[in-house]
Amino acid sequence: MDTARLNRFVSGLWDDEIVPQLVEYIRIPNKSPMFDPKWAEHGYMDAAVKLMETWARTKLPALPGATLEVVRLEGRTPLIYIEVPGTVDDTVVLYGHLDKQPEMTGWAEGLGPWTPVLKGDKLYGRGGADDGYAIFGSLAALLALHEQGVPHARCVIMIEACEESGSYDLPFYVDHLADRIGHPSLVVCLDSGCGNYDQLWLTTSLRGMTGGELTVQVLEEGVHSGDASGVVPSSFRILRELLSRLEDPETGTIKPKELYVDIPQQRIEQAKRSAEVLGTAVYDKFPFVKGMHPVTEDLTELVLNRTWRPQLAVTGVDGMPSLESAGNVLRPKTSVKLSLRVPPTLSGAKAGQFVKELLENNPPYGAKVSFKLEKDGSGWNAPQLSPWLEQAVATASQNYFGTPAAYMGEGGSIPFMGMLGEKFPKAQFLITGVLGPHSNAHGPNEFLHIPTGKKVSMVVADVVARHYEQGAKG
Ligand SMILES: [Zn+2]
Repeated sequence: MDTARLNRFVSGLWDDEIVPQLVEYIRIPNKSPMFDPKWAEHGYMDAAVKLMETWARTKLPALPGATLEVVRLEGRTPLIYIEVPGTVDDTVVLYGHLDKQPEMTGWAEGLGPWTPVLKGDKLYGRGGADDGYAIFGSLAALLALHEQGVPHARCVIMIEACEESGSYDLPFYVDHLADRIGHPSLVVCLDSGCGNYDQLWLTTSLRGMTGGELTVQVLEEGVHSGDASGVVPSSFRILRELLSRLEDPETGTIKPKELYVDIPQQRIEQAKRSAEVLGTAVYDKFPFVKGMHPVTEDLTELVLNRTWRPQLAVTGVDGMPSLESAGNVLRPKTSVKLSLRVPPTLSGAKAGQFVKELLENNPPYGAKVSFKLEKDGSGWNAPQLSPWLEQAVATASQNYFGTPAAYMGEGGSIPFMGMLGEKFPKAQFLITGVLGPHSNAHGPNEFLHIPTGKKVSMVVADVVARHYEQGAKG
């Protein structure tokens, strides 16, 4: 394979077609169903599917025998399914998603979730990096192989529309399409992160998650706080007490040992090496306010905290008026949304049940406490890397980034990887992505680092070609 030619082809396709497509894609507010329950009525999801489908169809003639279908199971988000025939009886699955996180506040002047802005190497806007580019990057890789006649195994591209809601529709599609998907020996996922933009980062683990709505109710209606305080326990105070059952308020450490696993020794070693490579970028990639410092200065501990330990985020609140309309009222109830990341090898569903009992048992003062579980997903720990893939990854990182590859766990969750890991225990995984420092998926000012998008596409092409070669060798 001619890597310079591959580079030219992929870069050109990104500049001429992919970036303009992503600009249009960013304009579409196709929020994941959890954030837009009326998604079907609104039609944004269909618009995003249409955009990707239309572009992909123009590329199919260059991939002989390739087919595309938008699969729609009744009452579920759609899924784009593309099959590209190969020259061996083996399958590569390439995965991505097209649904988006909600807007979030705090976008800088001139930027916004649905306002695409190109600034230097970056394309700002919601969903470009997480994960709109995946279908384009995957197809770019396969097109680049065909452009120079490099053989590959049969490839299946699956782009779902429910990932940001925990992929609850996806298992139905995997079952529905089981015969057509076959048995992949390599799974490529472009929805993950990178520690920096200087090398290829392979994701070795993903955390699972669970969460839901915690509500504490103390009164049938709000009352004068001067009248009631000291008599009626505050729902906010009870909520704080309940949260303290789960999390140490001083340190942020999750208390119950049931929510931990033994971290494999190899992952601890890799965390140490990541901490060395990244240095203080482990934490100063976050937009801290002046004077603020991280949970600890121990970089390895920080890496392990965000990849192998349970951690809590409170992501929403209800039952409280906004500040300008807050009177002196002892409010009847307080609700918060909890998002609990759990270790890669812990069952998300079991963790959720455990947390539900922990929060609901023995409510202080007999308050009405409910924890409504919302979504759960188990994490994923990569199987032992095959020597061919380790070699392919090392070569690809050198070829396209000019530096060695790095390995790190990610703190986020991709529920599909857990599902696939269980279904195809023998498959190898290439999980990587463009979500590097400041790219801020899920937050304001999300951007796609275009050079990294290009390089990741080239890496996929390279690795898919090596996958074929080692299969051909037997
Ligand atoms: Zn994503």
